[in-house]
Amino acid sequence: MAHSAARTTSKDEKTLREVIRRYWGYSKLRPLQAEAMLAACRHRDTLAVLPTGGGKSLCYQAPAMLSDKPCVVISPLIALMKDQVDGLIQRGIPAAFLNSSLDATDRRRVESGILRGQYKLIFIAPERLTGSAFPKLLENVGVGSFAIDEAHCISHWGHDFRDDYRKLGLLKERFSNVPINAFTATATPRVRQDICEQLRLANPEVLVGDFFRPNLVYQVRRRRSILHDVLRQVTQRNRQAGIVYCIRRSDVNELTTFLCAEGIKAAAYHAGMTDTCRTTTQDSFAVGDIDVVVATVAFGMGIDRSDIRFVIHTAIPKSIEHYQQETGRAGRDGGQADCILFYSGGDFAKWKSIIEKNDGQDSESHVQMLSEMYRFCTSRICRHRKLVQYFGQEWNREACDACDICQQNLEPLADSTILTQKILSAIVRTGQRYGAGYVCEVLLGHESEHVLSRGHHELSTFGLLREYNRQTIMDWFDELTDSQLLKREGKFRIPKVTGMGWKVLRSEAKAKLLPPDTTYARPVKPKTKTRKRRLAPLAEPDWDYTETTYCHLEDTDIAAGTPISNSSMNHAAMRLFERLRELRRKLAEEMNAPAFVVFSDRTLRAMAKARPTDRSSMLRIKGVGDAKFDSYGQRFLEVIEEFEA
Ligand code: ADP
Repeated sequence: MAHSAARTTSKDEKTLREVIRRYWGYSKLRPLQAEAMLAACRHRDTLAVLPTGGGKSLCYQAPAMLSDKPCVVISPLIALMKDQVDGLIQRGIPAAFLNSSLDATDRRRVESGILRGQYKLIFIAPERLTGSAFPKLLENVGVGSFAIDEAHCISHWGHDFRDDYRKLGLLKERFSNVPINAFTATATPRVRQDICEQLRLANPEVLVGDFFRPNLVYQVRRRRSILHDVLRQVTQRNRQAGIVYCIRRSDVNELTTFLCAEGIKAAAYHAGMTDTCRTTTQDSFAVGDIDVVVATVAFGMGIDRSDIRFVIHTAIPKSIEHYQQETGRAGRDGGQADCILFYSGGDFAKWKSIIEKNDGQDSESHVQMLSEMYRFCTSRICRHRKLVQYFGQEWNREACDACDICQQNLEPLADSTILTQKILSAIVRTGQRYGAGYVCEVLLGHESEHVLSRGHHELSTFGLLREYNRQTIMDWFDELTDSQLLKREGKFRIPKVTGMGWKVLRSEAKAKLLPPDTTYARPVKPKTKTRKRRLAPLAEPDWDYTETTYCHLEDTDIAAGTPISNSSMNHAAMRLFERLRELRRKLAEEMNAPAFVVFSDRTLRAMAKARPTDRSSMLRIKGVGDAKFDSYGQRFLEVIEEFEA
């Protein structure tokens, strides 16, 4: 029995690899892709948590080629479906989508195609399954598997809960024998469990990829001025591609104007702009006409650049999940990229009020996620470690060498244990009943009304840390929490001394605290004068709250560790690369499709370096499969030939 299963697996694997080579032109698989695809071929339910750019689509698209019944892909991203389907058709794979953007004639055409068994993949929005007609149609034709993209949307604990997704739990009732393969890029252990339960997955294979992306260098700094902090970073990165995220649309507009006046090729992107303006920004960025997009969270869909060298946040994002997704858009070519986050305490209050206005019953869990994000900023622990652990993975490296904390190589303070004892005893002497902010007041020796009325000015701990500033002491509270000398309880995160903390208090153990944070960005002298910002009252919301869009990714081979960056090409290859891009732009325009549907930057760079001369040498380039060669391979060969002449 086991023997025959192994035989089937290796046969499936061989067929899969052949299909992938033929239709996608890839010769290697990324981590966990093989496992996810083979589990799908064995009709197992799966949940795959793979990082952005990890290649989740291939995990359901390739197995669909081996099945005689279609794979139904459920995705909340209506705007991406057309591009995905166009991309598949270009590869010679029959696919269709059904969503509210189709008129009645197109819808009927697709439905009759489904009845005729014409498609390998059918993309639908989740609400299509809640009616009765479409599920009936699927029952009649039979479904090979369901692929659920962005599966975290099913969980209240995820960062983007959607009601329509919750109803997908009914799939198992109606299609009990059809396997479900769920995919997401961001899911903590709690969210993973919730996805499996809500979808009623039967003994699922849960595959979780590595969240450590060593090519991303994380830096977190307190903000002094949005405009000057950003300008300084952008000017240091002359002509590199980057995204700057802001919370408010008005900040996006103001910052874009400021950067343009300083000579930076920047453009704005937010949901308050017209579709045409947004598309112009996106396309100009894709082809390199502009270097910097200043955006709200709405920017993500269709980012057709794998060479983004920096992502700047001008304020804290509203969750670690958002932060991981947004920073994950940088460095998809595997080259180094900087992720710089500027924050201030005020960001927390700003988001909190937005969340409370928008989220109703979910606001508590979202404020909790926001608090985690804020703690990420104030923490003095390796950023990569924090992120990896947040997503439930073990961290077994010493230092990452790719974050501000590890790069500073900070030595703990010599008097760490004494300082810790002062903090812990202030907590104990005030009765372990007050928030960190209040205990901080006592340690600073503030004779506030509250302190005086409670008689805490008479405590021996009153004013013990008056030579430090409030932020430093608050940072230390977080450090002591991270090192488990303190735990935080309840909604107000009241600090309480743990068993280990008591040992330090009794001088039976030592503690470590890092020196006060002095990493403030110094403003650069701007060319333009800036007015003091006064914002006009707004008739409509000034923020883009929900990320309805996600990034569409380029071919990269991060796993193989062989990025082809511009810097690895000589001058001639760069010139040829530009000509190939020009042809790609023309073809994309002719097809009315985004450029990546033709070939990715990576594939074009490989072409520019290898200069293939015929079909067989062209097919050896990663990203060129038979179908793509048949569609336009010849035209690329002609450009190369012309260049050589
Ligand atoms: P995500 O996991 O974020 O959904 P995608 O499925 O969009 O990622 O894949 C990102 C990019 O990587 C796409 O351009 C895809 O074609 C490419 N890709 C996927 N798998 C491979 C592979 N094994 N080799 C090379 N490129 C791949």
